[in-house]
Amino acid sequence: MHDKMCNDDLYVPADFELLSSKKLTHRAIMWFYSQVLRPHERSGIIILLVLATILVSWSGFGKIQAAVQDDTIRIAIVKSAPEITVAGDGIVVTNTTGESLSLSIPALIKPVSDGLMVDGQFYKKLSFSSETVVYINNKPYRGSAELSLVDKGILVVNQLPLEEYLVGLINCEISSSWPIEAVKSQAIIARTYAVNRRIARMGAPYHMESSVIDQVYDGSSIEDSRARRAVQETEGEVLTYGGGVIQAYYHSSCGGRTEASENVWGAPLPYLKGVECQYCFSSPTATAWEYKITLKDLEDRLRAGGYKISGLTAIKPGIPNGRGRLKQVLLQATVGSTAVTGDQFRKVVGYGLIKSTRFTVTPGTKKDLLFSGTGNGHGVGLCQWGAKQRAVDGFTSGEILAYYYPGAELKKLSDMN
Ligand SMILES: [Zn+2]
Repeated sequence: MHDKMCNDDLYVPADFELLSSKKLTHRAIMWFYSQVLRPHERSGIIILLVLATILVSWSGFGKIQAAVQDDTIRIAIVKSAPEITVAGDGIVVTNTTGESLSLSIPALIKPVSDGLMVDGQFYKKLSFSSETVVYINNKPYRGSAELSLVDKGILVVNQLPLEEYLVGLINCEISSSWPIEAVKSQAIIARTYAVNRRIARMGAPYHMESSVIDQVYDGSSIEDSRARRAVQETEGEVLTYGGGVIQAYYHSSCGGRTEASENVWGAPLPYLKGVECQYCFSSPTATAWEYKITLKDLEDRLRAGGYKISGLTAIKPGIPNGRGRLKQVLLQATVGSTAVTGDQFRKVVGYGLIKSTRFTVTPGTKKDLLFSGTGNGHGVGLCQWGAKQRAVDGFTSGEILAYYYPGAELKKLSDMN
């Protein structure tokens, strides 16, 4: 089973950052327009701006369309590696200009000051592909693997068909032995998430990480026939809202109610408002958790996380928000008492230990604390264990998704324009 902590990490989605920088640029332009330009200069500027806007939106639209319809995805599978071994049958090797190279396989590649070294030869970049799989450090990957030097180490980007990527991913995020409608739901949200990232990171060296930062992906070794069936039966289907591909966040278990996006990342999204979910309680071991730690060990973790406290005496949960999650946690200490957000507290102590911000704290008898909580993950979007129970209860993948992403519409990528 690979069904826990796959999507447990928190980060500020790139789109939310983009939104605020666009606002700032807009304000600066408006100030320049009203305060600096004279009236006759303004009319000329308006005509130029209209023409430029038409041109930019036309070319931008074309790029977005290409990102929507592209059928491959680029995943960073290894970053800053001190060496990489490449193996496999029928491997085709090319350099930056696409010229074929004859390298002996398996190949051991090492980083040098401005590129890569293999068999005593220098290359700027190398690409390895095969009709079956390419082994990177003994793990099989479909498609091609591109190696380049980044930050003194080797970056490996795996480019492969989006649908093949999804088949490899399913058994990391959930288990393909779950009811097929739950597995199909996972295929659709993973596809939606991937296409959304591909649009957001157009032109970047890769679209996604292979870790909890995006979606956990470990190559083709955990593909199976049920994962392939779920991907094939939902081929090309994504969730949309207002004509755009949504940010389909998901998590392991919500523990009673899913969370609104603004309570985790500060930006509201109409299809991520939070819904009631008692379904994940059918899987108590995946939903309820406890964690015991001494005050001393907790203080060490908090100090390592940058909090200048000493003599930690207690942790006091603040008032839960409307979804039962803690906005604030109070750290009480002889020196340096302070309040932190629930998410910050999880991050500093460890996302895998404090599994959600839905918890209570009980002081123990041995200068220790017992944290008891429900839910695993940030709580935004689909609750995977809840989706499993809904599938057991007879709901289809379309019904499950409509429940967790209210207002979102299922569409085929090929029908989007
Ligand atoms: Zn749930």
